[in-house]
Amino acid sequence: MTDLMEAVTSLAKRRGIAFQSAEIYGGLRSSWDYGPLGVELRRNIRNAWWRANVQLRDDVVGVEAAVITSPKVWQASGHLETFHDPLVECTNCHQRFREDHLQLSANADGIVLCPNCGGAEFTEPKQFNLMLKTFLGPIEDDDAIAYLRPETAQGMFVNFPAIQAVARKKLPFGIAQVGKSFRNEITPGNFIFRTREFEQMEMEFFVEPGTDDEWFAYWVERRMNWYLDLGVSKEKLRLRPHETEELAHYAKAATDVEYEFPFGWQELEGIANRTDFDLNAHQAASGEDLTYFDQEKEERYLPFVIEPAVGVDRALLTFLLDAYRVEEVPTAKGDTDKRTVLGLHRDLAPIKVAVLPLSRNEKLVPEARRVHDLVKPEWITQYDDAGAIGRRYRRQDEVGTPFCVTVDFDSLDDAQVTVRERDSMAQERLPIANLVAYLKDQL
Ligand code: ATP
Repeated sequence: MTDLMEAVTSLAKRRGIAFQSAEIYGGLRSSWDYGPLGVELRRNIRNAWWRANVQLRDDVVGVEAAVITSPKVWQASGHLETFHDPLVECTNCHQRFREDHLQLSANADGIVLCPNCGGAEFTEPKQFNLMLKTFLGPIEDDDAIAYLRPETAQGMFVNFPAIQAVARKKLPFGIAQVGKSFRNEITPGNFIFRTREFEQMEMEFFVEPGTDDEWFAYWVERRMNWYLDLGVSKEKLRLRPHETEELAHYAKAATDVEYEFPFGWQELEGIANRTDFDLNAHQAASGEDLTYFDQEKEERYLPFVIEPAVGVDRALLTFLLDAYRVEEVPTAKGDTDKRTVLGLHRDLAPIKVAVLPLSRNEKLVPEARRVHDLVKPEWITQYDDAGAIGRRYRRQDEVGTPFCVTVDFDSLDDAQVTVRERDSMAQERLPIANLVAYLKDQL
C-alpha cells in the first residue's frame, strides 16, 4: 500500500504540486513547497471550504488574525502549560519519538522497538511543548518572547466580542479562519501529512450552552458530508469519537473524521466541543467582559463553542491519494495501454480546461490561441502544444484536468473543436461559439 504513497509523492513532485523545500541545499526535513499546480489545488480546497462554511451560510463570518501572537493569549488558553506531546529517546541510537505514536507500533506482547535501530529501551517520557517560539525586536530576552500560533482558533476567541459587535450576529453564529499554524512536531512525516508549518481551516461556532451537543452532532455530520460531496470514497472515511482520556485540555467531546491513508486510519479533521473553556479563560485573564447578551432571554452568558478544524495540506494529501488511479485503456491499434488519472472533483482540479492544437502547424496555432483566449478569462487553463496529442491527453489526465479541447485542421473550416472528458474519455464535437457555454454548464 505504501506504493500508493510513493506514486502520489512522485507525481506531486514530477508535476509541480509539492516538492521538498530548499532542495538545492538537500532540503529541510518535512518542509515542503507547493509548485504551480499545488498552488491552484490549495486555492480550490480553501475556496470549497469557504464556500460551504461561510459563503452559503448566513451565520458564519470570516477573520484573519495575526500569526505571531502575544504570549498572554497562550498563557490564558493553556497552551504554554499543556500543549505538549510526550517525547522519548531511544537509549541506543538517541533518536527521539512521540511516545503515543511509538505505542501504536507495539507487537502482540506489548513490546515497542525503535523504528530506527531496533533497540528496545527508551528514556522516560518528557513533556515537550510544541509551540514555536520567536523573539520580537533586537533583544532576545524573556520580555521579547512571542509565539507562532499552533492553531488559528485563539484568533477567533480573542476577537469574539469585536466581531460579534460588527457583524451584529445573534447566536448561534460562527467565525471562520484559514491560515498558517506552526507546531514543533517531534515526528513530522508521511509527506505533507504532518509538518511543522501547515495551514488550517477552522471555525468556532458559538452556541447557547445546553444546545452544544446538538450543534456538535450537526457539525460532525456536515463536515463528513463535505468530503463525500467532494468525491472522497465513502469506505475510506469514518468517524471516530474520542475516548475521555484522550480529549484535549479544552474539550468536552471530540470526533475525528478519519481517512484510511496508506499508513493506516488517521485523523483528517477534528471536530471538538470546546465548551466555554477558551472564552472563560480569556475573560479571566484579560479582565474584559466576553459574555454575550441574549436579547430574548434578557441574560448574559458565555457561549459554548463547536470547532471543526482541518489542515489544507492534510486535506490535499487525502484528495490526491483518493483520486489517484492507474487504469488500462484500449489503444487505436487494438491492444491496451496504461493511463494515470487523478479523478479529482471538478471543483478541486487545478487546471479546468486544456487547449491542445493537434500540432504546431502554423495555421492551427493562431486558431488554438484564439480558442485559448476564449476560455482563459473563465478558468485556470493550460495551452499545450508539445508532443503527440495522446501524450498530451495523458499529461492532463495525470493532473486531473476535466476537459481537453482539441483544435484540428477541420476546425479551420467548420469552426468546431473536439472536447474530451477526463473520466469517460468521450469526445464531443461542438461549435467554438458554444464552447464557453458548454464548459460552464459542465463545470
Ligand atoms: P495530532 O494528535 O495528530 O498531532 P491534533 O489532534 O493535535 O493532531 P488538531 O489540533 O485537532 O490536531 O488540528 C486540527 C487539524 O489540523 C488536524 O485534523 C489536521 O488536519 C491539521 N493538522 C494538525 N497538525 C498538523 C500538522 N502537524 N501537519 C499538518 N496538518 C496538521
